[in-house]
Amino acid sequence: MSISRRDLLRLAASTAASRLGQAQESRKVGYCMVGLGRISMQHFMPACRTTRQSRVTALVSGHRDKAERMAAEYGIPRENIYSYENYDAIATNQDIDAVYVALPNSMHAEYTIRAAKAGKHVLCEKPMATSVADAQAMVDACRAANRKLMIAYRCQLEQTNLHAIDLIRSGKLGKVEAIQSAYGFNIGRNEWRCNSKLAGGGPLMDVGIYSLNACRYLTGEEPAELHGYASVIDQDGRFKEVEENLAWTMKFPSGVVASCDTAYGADMPGYYRVHGSKGVLHVDAAFGYEGQILTAHVQGQPVVSEPNPAKDPSHFVLEADHFAECVLRNMTPKTPGEEGLRDMQLMERIYQSCGRKLA
Ligand code: NAD
Repeated sequence: MSISRRDLLRLAASTAASRLGQAQESRKVGYCMVGLGRISMQHFMPACRTTRQSRVTALVSGHRDKAERMAAEYGIPRENIYSYENYDAIATNQDIDAVYVALPNSMHAEYTIRAAKAGKHVLCEKPMATSVADAQAMVDACRAANRKLMIAYRCQLEQTNLHAIDLIRSGKLGKVEAIQSAYGFNIGRNEWRCNSKLAGGGPLMDVGIYSLNACRYLTGEEPAELHGYASVIDQDGRFKEVEENLAWTMKFPSGVVASCDTAYGADMPGYYRVHGSKGVLHVDAAFGYEGQILTAHVQGQPVVSEPNPAKDPSHFVLEADHFAECVLRNMTPKTPGEEGLRDMQLMERIYQSCGRKLA
């Protein structure tokens, strides 16, 4: 059997492609943590210990002592610790593929745009920004730099939320008619979340956004009409700058109506209930870090009862690895910058209808 020169070239090319594929498979994306607070230190960094494709390789912090402690714990070289001032120097660090922005909301735009200019991909916490203009600037900067931007909407990767979407799309509940959802908590004192310059707004920006985002992924539609009411009941100094309670309603193009509540003055476990023409679906702990419980009834018969107390894989493992895969395989993230921008536009309209403004 004779092998032609063309066959040999083809074989060489396919071997090289398969080697590249294997290298991509085994390579881990190096994340630089921007902000060492609760979400990065208690959730994202520990999750990265068990991810397939992600590792923490650098830190940005205003507290050198804390950063050195965390670096020692995670085996990060001291030269990969940055401050907010010398952050732009990440540009020349080959250990860093992407940054994880976990700062107060109003700082997301600056640190995302600086990362994109430094040639790094960006996984940014929700809410994406504190204004529509900042959110748009983040999308534009990442696009101009040809870098990926994902907003950390972890529920869109979580299995119970995905099962709820599947049940709705399967038609088992009939036509979706109405949705109810809530998420809130009783906030402590001296939180940046009650400072409008840092937070942009109150509970709507922080946790109400989960209900808003859920109504969009459950219906697969964008709300056409929104109306909100905001109030402050506790005159104890916490709510001088942001709302304490906010309730809003939405109407979607298909006619689905939704009503949602959020609060910083009361514990309000996250849930949603979807009423269809043939059945109802309820997810408890819908937005928590674990323990989602889905129950669905069709015409009175229990069809699904699915507690998901499993911690593994954690939402943060799913999130870190999904974005890593997007970086390694040049894919569009499931929740790109445009997804965060849409929520910002809608929250701006909800605030406007309450007679309030985003910061
Ligand atoms: P946090 O207060 O625990 O941490 C904030 C970090 O920012 C700290 O390291 C702090 O030192 C640093 N920082 C820098 N400049 C600051 C300034 N001027 N004021 C205050 N802090 C400053 O906050 P967090 O709970 O980790 O939240 C960070 C981001 O993550 C927020 O955008 C929040 O909405 C988001 N978040 C997301 C989830 C989720 O489940 N996806 C959960 C919690 C928080």
